[in-house]
Amino acid sequence: MTIAAFRGTAFGTLMQVVVTDPDHLESATSAVERVVDTIDRTCSRFRDDSELSILLASPGRHESTVSEMLGRAIACALRAAELTDGAVDPTVGGAVRNAGYTVDFGALAPDGAPIPLTIHPVPGWRRITYAPATRAVEIPAGIEVDLGATAKALASDLAAAAASDALGGGGVLVSLGGDVAVAGMPPDDGWHVQIAENSQAPITRDGETIAIHSGGVATSSTTVRRWRRGGVELHHIIDPATGLPAIGPWRTVSVVAGNCVDANIAATAAIVRGFAAMAWLETAGLPARLVDRSGDVRRVGGWPPRVLRRPER
Ligand code: ADP
Ligand code: MG
Repeated sequence: MTIAAFRGTAFGTLMQVVVTDPDHLESATSAVERVVDTIDRTCSRFRDDSELSILLASPGRHESTVSEMLGRAIACALRAAELTDGAVDPTVGGAVRNAGYTVDFGALAPDGAPIPLTIHPVPGWRRITYAPATRAVEIPAGIEVDLGATAKALASDLAAAAASDALGGGGVLVSLGGDVAVAGMPPDDGWHVQIAENSQAPITRDGETIAIHSGGVATSSTTVRRWRRGGVELHHIIDPATGLPAIGPWRTVSVVAGNCVDANIAATAAIVRGFAAMAWLETAGLPARLVDRSGDVRRVGGWPPRVLRRPER
């Protein structure tokens, strides 16, 4: 089967759209771009004109009826928090900013002067209320909502579904910075996804590759979105219990699940939870690949063992 791929950028990272019928590439890419654009306009914390930024910019307690997409993204973030007992929590916004991640990563200085770092648990997702029936949201004053973790994965799921619908059920894979979702009729031997710590790394002959027929794969890593302030290494995954970058044993976690949102929730939660995540992933039946700080790899939950290619003669 021939496949065709488009590469672009979205959310400050690499966007890839792959289709099983090359004639479909253009319409699939337009459908993906529409979804990505809607999520960016509603959920981004890096643009002042996003619906979320405007909502949070008003002083005091925020009460509003939100758009369908923002409502979906908020519901998704709250569900992530509930499923992970708050390891993934959308009220990390202030902590992310305090750790120095204040602008789009591409514009963030890799090095800088010391910044105050204090242990301070995040306000907690239970303080946000959202009623799906009316799309009414209430956020107490001072809580900075960051939908970064779940909204990108949601974009992959919705974009893959929208693109496949536009093609009458044709096969589509969407990757947004390592958050991969597939929809429609897959290639006969599945979608081959190479696992890497950096989603922008080129495909290599020896890289570990898995195949999926449906659902999603997500990778969360502390190795790429990092910076240094006053000599201290910081990264973008916050432990809600301390309000500081997570310090657990795993530097990168990849998870396969029924959709990209669930895969991403589990991957980010595993980085926050540390060793305890292995048993949790196993019990949840989620295939996962965890890389520790020294580069050693553990595979749990049915993640396939690595198959080495035969050397070329
Ligand atoms: P990636 O962006 O590499 O896919 P994640 O899916 O783990 O990584 O999302 C990390 C982003 O989510 C951070 O950039 C930040 O905006 C936000 N975030 C950081 N820590 C948490 C957390 N514990 N819970 C929810 N969101 C988080
Ligand atoms: Mg992710």
